[in-house]
Amino acid sequence: MKAILVLLIITTAFGGNYPKHVSQTLKKIMKDVYGVFGVYEQVSYENRGFISNAYFVITDEGVVVIDLLSTYKLGKELLQTIAGVTKKPVKFAVVTHYHTDHFYGVRAFKEAGATIIAHKWAEEYVSKESSWNFYEARKKILKEHLEGTTMETPHIYIEEDEGITLELGKKTFVIRQFCKGHTAGDVMVWMPEEKVLFGGDIVFDGRLPFLGSGFSKSWLKCLDRILEMDPLFVLPGHGKPMLTRERIRNRVKWTRKYISDLRKTIRKMIEEGRDLDYIRENINTALVEIDPMYAQVPVFFDVNPVNAYYVYFEIENELIEEGQ
Ligand SMILES: [Zn+2]
Repeated sequence: MKAILVLLIITTAFGGNYPKHVSQTLKKIMKDVYGVFGVYEQVSYENRGFISNAYFVITDEGVVVIDLLSTYKLGKELLQTIAGVTKKPVKFAVVTHYHTDHFYGVRAFKEAGATIIAHKWAEEYVSKESSWNFYEARKKILKEHLEGTTMETPHIYIEEDEGITLELGKKTFVIRQFCKGHTAGDVMVWMPEEKVLFGGDIVFDGRLPFLGSGFSKSWLKCLDRILEMDPLFVLPGHGKPMLTRERIRNRVKWTRKYISDLRKTIRKMIEEGRDLDYIRENINTALVEIDPMYAQVPVFFDVNPVNAYYVYFEIENELIEEGQ
């Protein structure tokens, strides 16, 4: 449900010129690696829910897909797009996290015979009543675009803080949870030889991360791991791919700085005896004082107080644990 909040307040205009088929956004990123790119806005009937990115990697023995888009129909379109590039079968489909815009296409890939891989948290997500309420809410918006969409669990689970290494057609994919970040069950997919990272919703280009799951402290670990991996390409769940080392380091460090600035400021405010209402009202001014560049970030003034709300509770718990 926390995801709804932020989606509702991101209202980037797109001028009604939406892709009619996922294949219209197809881009070759490098040899054997392709992506399709949804619009960066909230789910609407007009955009058919195509608001996230998905990627596929062709190997000698078949295709690996990363993220499955937000409806069964979009999943089918992604499969058609892949079939237009290669005749090889889709063998594996990895979901970076069980949020609707990344896994609702899952049934299409199961029907195509792919083995679905996701974090163990997927099981919990699918069994929660709130997830089904969210599904009903999506149905009201997407109407016939959501037809055929079902919430299904993966075939292979990634365990807490663990991972698996998948070898297929001379390519290696390390699929693991590097931290608790955007959700309790994020996985990233790392191709060590090509130095390509499929990052899910951990780092974006020019956008704020959404901290609604309350794992901001651990999120920093993920960002440090990305810097250590030193990828050549980072392919995110939304927005533009990051295709130079310099851009990646810049965006990862910027995301890290934002989360750290937010955490430090909230901690200081709590220590000064400020309550949640005060913090939400003053957090934008406080951060822009630290770094005026924050004011230039799209939807900063809307998303930052929402992030502050969740980080407030997280820091309160940290202070209790520290015995203050
Ligand atoms: Zn997402």
